[in-house]
Amino acid sequence: MEISETEEQSMIREMVRGFAEEVLAPTCLQRDKGQEAPLDEWRAFCELGLQGITIAEQYGGSPVDDVTEAIIVEELARVDPSFSVMFCVHVGLCSKTISLHGNEEQKREYLSRLAGNEIGAYSLSEAGAGTDAASMNCRAQLSDDGTHYILNGEKMWVTNGESANIYVLFAKDIDHPEYGQKKHGGTTAFIVEGGFDGFSVGKKEDKLGIRSSDTCSLLLENCKVPVANVLKESGRGFPIAMNALDNSRIGIAAQALGIAQGAFESALKYAHERETFGKPIAHHQGIGNYLADMATRVEAARLMVYKAAWAKRQHYEHGAPRHTRRPAWPSYSLEILRCGSQRGRFKFSGAMATRRISLSNDSSETQRSPRSTRAPKRSRES
Ligand SMILES: Cc1cc2nc3c(=O)[nH]c(=O)nc-3n(C[C@H](O)[C@H](O)[C@H](O)COP(=O)(O)OP(=O)(O)OC[C@H]3O[C@@H](n4cnc5c(N)ncnc54)[C@H](O)[C@@H]3O)c2cc1C
Repeated sequence: MEISETEEQSMIREMVRGFAEEVLAPTCLQRDKGQEAPLDEWRAFCELGLQGITIAEQYGGSPVDDVTEAIIVEELARVDPSFSVMFCVHVGLCSKTISLHGNEEQKREYLSRLAGNEIGAYSLSEAGAGTDAASMNCRAQLSDDGTHYILNGEKMWVTNGESANIYVLFAKDIDHPEYGQKKHGGTTAFIVEGGFDGFSVGKKEDKLGIRSSDTCSLLLENCKVPVANVLKESGRGFPIAMNALDNSRIGIAAQALGIAQGAFESALKYAHERETFGKPIAHHQGIGNYLADMATRVEAARLMVYKAAWAKRQHYEHGAPRHTRRPAWPSYSLEILRCGSQRGRFKFSGAMATRRISLSNDSSETQRSPRSTRAPKRSRES
């Protein structure tokens, strides 16, 4: 395994970093506060041609390897976690699912649109079906003339719920022989368009974080979905849903890594600007230790995420055996995110905890200059 980035990976990292700093950073905090989806930013992003990285060239995509995908997610999350979530769901849970399980007609119709500037979503969860996805309640029934399914129910927690045009959505076909026999019996994967009859977007969640990524419920009221929009066939949806989640795990880890990297960089910057007792707080040993610890852990997480992405490619392309430790590697980066963001944003000072400092360099909210601490009456360090 080659540890260093390829020339192409470095070029893509630079390109995405430039986009994130120039296009996402200036609007990031404002969008987050107002819960505004980054739709203009998405259109600008599509000009880079990276919205189709899980789509074959023949449908207008520009596929990249799994490590490169992790690098893109990491760079987006470093500046704007909301945008990286939007991207992950579009390329991973939606486009990739259609790439892997769609028939030729479905790929030609939907992948070419997703490789353009339409946005994808993935809708599995419901109020009573999160971790326990098989207990979903949304129902599908074939119409009398056999041309379409009629879907009823309510989905929840759908990332890009309001912004998306194309949804991979799961419901149970009540006429399937396994419906009611097995817990997930009858689960079917559908491609649903935002404009279909009986489809509407419900409540938008007022989240604590990644607020610029819209998370909504979806209402299915006799929603008509053509039979041609079933992925594989009726009753084969549950493995499709689980496979999509498996595929997306490295993306989640790469997001955590990018957020931790961003937290570390903003902490480092602040620690060199903010002075107490006559010197930047970075030069106080306790803070220096935190910074060194953060940098080490972030780098360890990076190696694990990239190795997990590399191992995934080895498994799918060369039939390498799955390794039980691999799913654990991405979860380490979630631990790093927790550690990095607590230390970076919250432990150092109130200014960081109140979002006044970030990589966006948006100082509009900074009411107190990092250097403007009152001089101590008596230095306890001297
Ligand atoms: C910001 C955001 C975006 C999302 N985007 C999407 C999306 O795009 N599409 C989509 O379909 N869903 C989406 N979800 C939903 C997400 O997948 C679910 O929240 C997740 O599956 C967990 O379900 P739950 O919240 O109902 O928790 P529950 O299933 O109720 O679980 C509650 C807690 O119990 C634990 N738990 C449950 N069962 C067990 C067990 N057997 N053993 C031990 N512990 C257990 C869980 O780990 C969890 O900590 C999103 C959620 C969020 C917050």
